[in-house]
Amino acid sequence: MKFKLLVTISTDNYKMIDQMCKKAILLGAYGIEFTNFLNQGNAKNMDSSNLLSSEQICEFFEQLQATRKKYYKEQLVIDRSGLFGKNQNSRSCHFNCPAGCDMVVITPDNNVYSCLFLAKPGLEIGKLIDGKILLNDYINHDGNLCLAQEMCNNNNAKFVAKVLKKQK
Ligand code: SF4
Repeated sequence: MKFKLLVTISTDNYKMIDQMCKKAILLGAYGIEFTNFLNQGNAKNMDSSNLLSSEQICEFFEQLQATRKKYYKEQLVIDRSGLFGKNQNSRSCHFNCPAGCDMVVITPDNNVYSCLFLAKPGLEIGKLIDGKILLNDYINHDGNLCLAQEMCNNNNAKFVAKVLKKQK
């Protein structure tokens, strides 16, 4: 069976990237993907000390880069989700948040959102009508930040609201 491990990174395990990659290989996974702990859903009831600070995210990226150098992709594909945002210490980081620009999310009530993690009342950017996606807002951000991380982990709702500003 071909499988990939998905691992949530928190303050408990962010220093264990190499160990987790070794374990993934031992388990026979073809890849591993690290995702950032997001303060939403059931996680809201958990201790917020699980959330990584910006310094800890930098440390996570350092370990990730070092670990990627140790393994060929044929041994283990090592991915990370956009929820960590841009690696501020890497010039070669090609991170670009696609929310609302290259990607939209449509919920069963035909509302359109910029990202699955931002599918919340008040953050609609449009509507699906007669099979067409009609956007009534525009996304005003350069893609350098993960909007979900800003909203859920960094309490930066004002910034996200500005990014999803309504057209006048
Ligand atoms: S806000 Fe952007 S980077 Fe963050 S999870 Fe959504 S699409 Fe990915």
